[in-house]
Amino acid sequence: MVRVKQIGRGLINGLKVTGTHLLRRPVTRPYPEQRAYTPPRFRGVHRLVENECVVCHACDRVCPVQCVTIKGYRGEDRRFVLEQFDIDYNLCMFCNLCVEVCPPHCLLMGPEFEVAGANHDDLMWHLDDLSFERGERL
Ligand code: SF4
Ligand code: SF4
Repeated sequence: MVRVKQIGRGLINGLKVTGTHLLRRPVTRPYPEQRAYTPPRFRGVHRLVENECVVCHACDRVCPVQCVTIKGYRGEDRRFVLEQFDIDYNLCMFCNLCVEVCPPHCLLMGPEFEVAGANHDDLMWHLDDLSFERGERL
């Protein structure tokens, strides 16, 4: 008999908790239909203003995990032209060091956080993906 009373009390308490939460706003989001808010200084996927990059290699030199690969050449007007800019998101830990050292401030981290892929190659992002001007993936 005591056991039946305990179960009954437990059920009532459980229903009370359910009742109070029924009228509250949900704390979860139906992702991906509704995306999470990302604050202004969020460290998401990199974005590059390709035309302003001076191919100085400061970002690839400072990267602690060496996941940045850059290649460029000197153009006819003696300015460096960016040919290759890859970031390997298999390794990147979103530390922001590469952004901090960029002299012309042409590299930044945007609000995008969806970098998941089915294999390692999917996590290799290239100039076409990262460039503001081209932006194929973003
Ligand atoms: S955020 Fe950090 S780990 Fe990622 S590329 Fe930049 S320096 Fe390397
Ligand atoms: S630090 Fe900036 S300017 Fe230098 S290579 Fe990297 S992105 Fe280009």
